Amino acid sequence: MRNQGFIKAGARDVQRAAQTLAARLPPPLAPLSTIAYNYRWSWDADGDRIFREIDPYRWPRCGQNPVLFLIEAPSEALERAALDRDLVRRAERLADLIDEDVDAPAGDHGISDEHPVAFFCAEFGVHRSLPVYAGGLGGLAGDLLKAASDARLPFVGVGILYRQGYFHQRIDASGWQHEYWHDIDPDFRPAARVTDPDDGPVEVHVPIWGQDVWAQVWRVNVGRVPLFLLDTQIERNSPRAKFISGRLYESNPEIRLAQYALLGVGGYRLLQALGIDPSLIHLNEGHPALATLQMVRDEIREGAGFDQAVESTRNRFVFTTHTPVAAGNETYPVEEVNRVFPDMAERWGAPLNELLGLARVDASNGQERPSTTVLGLRMSRKANGVSRVHGAVARQMWAPLYPGRSPDAVPIGHVTNGAHLPTWMHVRYRELFDRYLEKGWEKPDRLTHPETWSRIDDIPDEEIWATRNAVAEELCEWVRSRSVRDRLTRGDSIEYAEQISNALRPDHLIVGFARRVATYKRLHLITLDPQRALRLIGSEQAVQFLFAGKAHPKDDGAKRVLQNIFSMKGAPHVGEHVAFIEDYDMSIAARLVSGCDVWLNLPRPPLEASGTSGMKAAFNFTINLSVLDGWWAEAYDGENGWAIEARDYSSEQQRDAADSAALYDLLEKQVVPSFYDRNESGLPVAWLQRARRSLKTAAARFCAARMLRDYVEQVYRP
Ligand SMILES: *Cc1c(COP(=O)(O)O)cnc(C)c1O
Repeated sequence: MRNQGFIKAGARDVQRAAQTLAARLPPPLAPLSTIAYNYRWSWDADGDRIFREIDPYRWPRCGQNPVLFLIEAPSEALERAALDRDLVRRAERLADLIDEDVDAPAGDHGISDEHPVAFFCAEFGVHRSLPVYAGGLGGLAGDLLKAASDARLPFVGVGILYRQGYFHQRIDASGWQHEYWHDIDPDFRPAARVTDPDDGPVEVHVPIWGQDVWAQVWRVNVGRVPLFLLDTQIERNSPRAKFISGRLYESNPEIRLAQYALLGVGGYRLLQALGIDPSLIHLNEGHPALATLQMVRDEIREGAGFDQAVESTRNRFVFTTHTPVAAGNETYPVEEVNRVFPDMAERWGAPLNELLGLARVDASNGQERPSTTVLGLRMSRKANGVSRVHGAVARQMWAPLYPGRSPDAVPIGHVTNGAHLPTWMHVRYRELFDRYLEKGWEKPDRLTHPETWSRIDDIPDEEIWATRNAVAEELCEWVRSRSVRDRLTRGDSIEYAEQISNALRPDHLIVGFARRVATYKRLHLITLDPQRALRLIGSEQAVQFLFAGKAHPKDDGAKRVLQNIFSMKGAPHVGEHVAFIEDYDMSIAARLVSGCDVWLNLPRPPLEASGTSGMKAAFNFTINLSVLDGWWAEAYDGENGWAIEARDYSSEQQRDAADSAALYDLLEKQVVPSFYDRNESGLPVAWLQRARRSLKTAAARFCAARMLRDYVEQVYRP
């Protein structure tokens, strides 16, 4: 560990934590402590393997959390690893790479280390061992941090350390979802509490409920990029204040609003307390939008008039909207805002209606409920949606905010999402590409170059197919053991539970559908015509379905959709060929997107802003079958997957029926025949052609490196 990187705050604290950990390890394994405290390992091709080799049993049991793992690993395992020259050498290489990354000078982006981009988000999906994410939004935020590290863009993440993270899922015998929460002890995670030069904890305060709520700060290293997480679970806070950083997407709206104050106002204060002077603040979705009001207040304090303060604030913020779904664009009754911030007008020295007007479409309408999305849009110099289609939908949706302009002239652009390719591409494919693509293909500027991917054509079909078979076998083996355990826990009979272990086969077609279970994502289309579904599942050319996903604890509609899937479990062949994997998270996502043959996405258009799991799938030769919405409307070219048209229907029932029929038509007439059509060597030639095309057309355009470049060029640069 040499240097501390471009942001010093908290760097020393992380180093100290790593040194404490190193002191417990046999000396040759000291580099592992550097690795453990920087998530850079998680997207190195060897990272996971290094830990797994030390103790293959304990590594998954520790949730792939390297800090906990190194504390819990039995000394015999560590002693054995210390004598393994090859392993030690590989650990040294990775630790050196991390040091180099951390010390690397800023890339040429027109943004300096002194004035980085500060990225605020309610959730970050960096790795399963830091469970402060729920779904796609968090995954995207985590992928952006990693892409910023790869491209050496000066970048700082700001979020919340939810002490219980997001919920865990358990399905009961009737198919109903139950939730439970685990405490996250940050001392046993790759995080360190940020201290000041006198070794006292850095704490910021946020006025909530008329009290001063205090928050401490944790630093997590994601390659070159630091992620700072706020946490109210400290002694001096009242019990309810401690609960603010308790759970992600808490249902109680008052707690939610308090969380948004913590994230926005607390995040803004945190940057000041740590001496970080960002060139701009990127608000990812409406949750952190209260940061803008904090800046307005500072400006007023320094003598600016209200309008002037608003104007300077707008110059420092940019905003990304992620959802055309009403529930994602939260509004609050004024009484609730008043309860959470009772002294707003006094604190700002501005009339309440003027402040709340910033969060209203019609600023002068005292009846309108303030909205975090409106606040973010109004207070930012640039705003964007997350795919071409979503940009247009957002312009339409928010046109009333820009009176006198036609929707086309609404100043909301789009930056299409991307997924972090080194995180989401299976190691076996990475190794295959190491052999066939030009050296350095994983570097950000190479990834985004179509030329890099044209070499995919040089890889023989046999090689791709052999790799697919190995990845699918790995997935099947894992699903068999997970499903039997899940089923027995649910109370199913041993006979039923074991049907899957005898039947699931890697040489048969595997179709996957996994993401948050929200009604608009239409998991229910799969069982809309049960007879047709059962025919496919029981046919000679078998189709195997793998499902996963959590419904929000308060979303009974989504829970009923899940239950409906389970209601079919007694039908013939379902126990053999269908598995629902409980407690979806990033590591399950990585297994499914890489090991399935087909990835389904069935959103109700135009409600899928982008979708990212299909991109992750495409990086792994998995072929998308999706409604033409979000990213797929941009990516689909007629030959790189399958599409369901987004047409107009007179009712949503009609749309569901038509789309479900279209799904089964495609599966029966195109997908299944193509998968099982083999040449004399047993290769599905046409299938592989499509899979290659899918990867070639998706990798350069839908990787996070491209997304980051677009943000720099279209949004961040002044
Ligand atoms: C990528 C990802 C998602 C996003 O899936 P969509 O299909 O884009 O909704 C959700 N959850 C997890 C765990 C992911 O990794």
